[in-house]
Amino acid sequence: MQPNAMALPELEIGDFRIFLLSDGVWHNDGGCMFGVVPRVLWERDHPADQQNRVRLGLTCPMVVKGREAILTDTGIGNRLGQDERKAYDRDEGKLVADLRALGIEPEEITHVVLSHLHFDHSGGVVRRGPSGALTPTFPKARYLVQRGEYEIARNATNVRLRAAYRHVPECFDPLADSLELLDGNTEIIPGVETVVTAGHTRDHQVITVKAADGHGFAHLADIVPTRSHIKPAWNQAYDVDPLRTMEAKARMLEQAAAARWWITFAHDDKLLAARIEQAAKDRIVITDSVATAESG
Ligand SMILES: [Zn+2]
Repeated sequence: MQPNAMALPELEIGDFRIFLLSDGVWHNDGGCMFGVVPRVLWERDHPADQQNRVRLGLTCPMVVKGREAILTDTGIGNRLGQDERKAYDRDEGKLVADLRALGIEPEEITHVVLSHLHFDHSGGVVRRGPSGALTPTFPKARYLVQRGEYEIARNATNVRLRAAYRHVPECFDPLADSLELLDGNTEIIPGVETVVTAGHTRDHQVITVKAADGHGFAHLADIVPTRSHIKPAWNQAYDVDPLRTMEAKARMLEQAAAARWWITFAHDDKLLAARIEQAAKDRIVITDSVATAESG
């Protein structure tokens, strides 16, 4: 696979190429995104609109090595109805367009790693065609998700979980045999691994890339969704176990800081990726970053 260089921001991690694809922007309630953090603190960096919504990204990094193309999460996609589009001030999305800008067709994606099955990470596994039918977006890919995440999503009885996973039949019935359920941390190809963090959902996973030359990368999905969430106590109200989110975050960020890994932010509207430093106990700072095209 030879993606067009310069079409999209890219990180070179040893002999892995990581392309910072995006499924565009959406807007969600600031209180949901920042949990116990008071609005006066979060709105400095994340201004809220009339409906208390903040602008969010949908960054989906793709790891390329040889013929393998591993996409991490799929954004919201184009399946939302009018009411949800309005609620999230959301258009069609652009993940497939970003892919094609690289000269890659959806059929060439070999793996899709899903951090968890909330709609803003897994909605793009299917696409709505002109007839209204939903078909797999990446028809030749294996879709990798933790078994526990899938079982909870399919069998939720708790009213909050049921709401969080209500799109799952519509998105996952069309995938049928291409779904692969993982039991814990799993090596996908040499150097690329999923790591279960829990916290945001009971079986939430992230992806790490460790190159032979010591360089590394991690997509921390909803453990560190925006640049502001590098702060230890800044977590989403959605987390089913916020203390475990904090523990996983501390562990992953410490590792990323010590080894100078690049990390990506699933939902930041300004920064796609960053490197960080442990400035003091419980204080992580960003040392260098890759901005979204809009924020220059
Ligand atoms: Zn999310």
